[in-house]
Amino acid sequence: MSYDPSNIFGKILRSEIPAHKVYEDDSALVMMDIFPQSRGHTLVVPKAPSRNLLDADPAALAAVMPLVQKVANAVKRATNADGIRLAQFNEAPAGQTVFHLHFHVIPVYEGTPLAAHAGGKADDAELASLAKAISEAL
Ligand code: AMP
Repeated sequence: MSYDPSNIFGKILRSEIPAHKVYEDDSALVMMDIFPQSRGHTLVVPKAPSRNLLDADPAALAAVMPLVQKVANAVKRATNADGIRLAQFNEAPAGQTVFHLHFHVIPVYEGTPLAAHAGGKADDAELASLAKAISEAL
């Protein structure tokens, strides 16, 4: 299957719909997941168009991983999480729901199970304050 630019992250990258942005440069956007699996669930979205890992340009993957690491550390610092889960899904049977490559940086708090993937919507004010705190920790 080929990349379809009408996906929701494509729209966010083109500023057609809003997002709680944490960081942006020429090659990637970092934003809060609005249906978080835990407090501080953050997404790293490379700007290069690809559905997922399977069709991504290896150079784009290599370029984004240092940012994924920086974001993981910033999320951990900003949220005081006990650990970080990194997730990335490829095609619907594997759990992918938005078909533009992205990496989930999910804080894990000891004793607190993660919420369901793409479950309930978070409060906008809380997402805005988390985006600010993670941005400052970057
Ligand atoms: P995946 O299932 O790996 O494709 O992940 C897509 C993620 O995007 C899910 O965790 C959703 O909660 C999240 N999501 C869906 N719509 C939005 C949106 N408008 N802004 C931010 N995150 C979103």
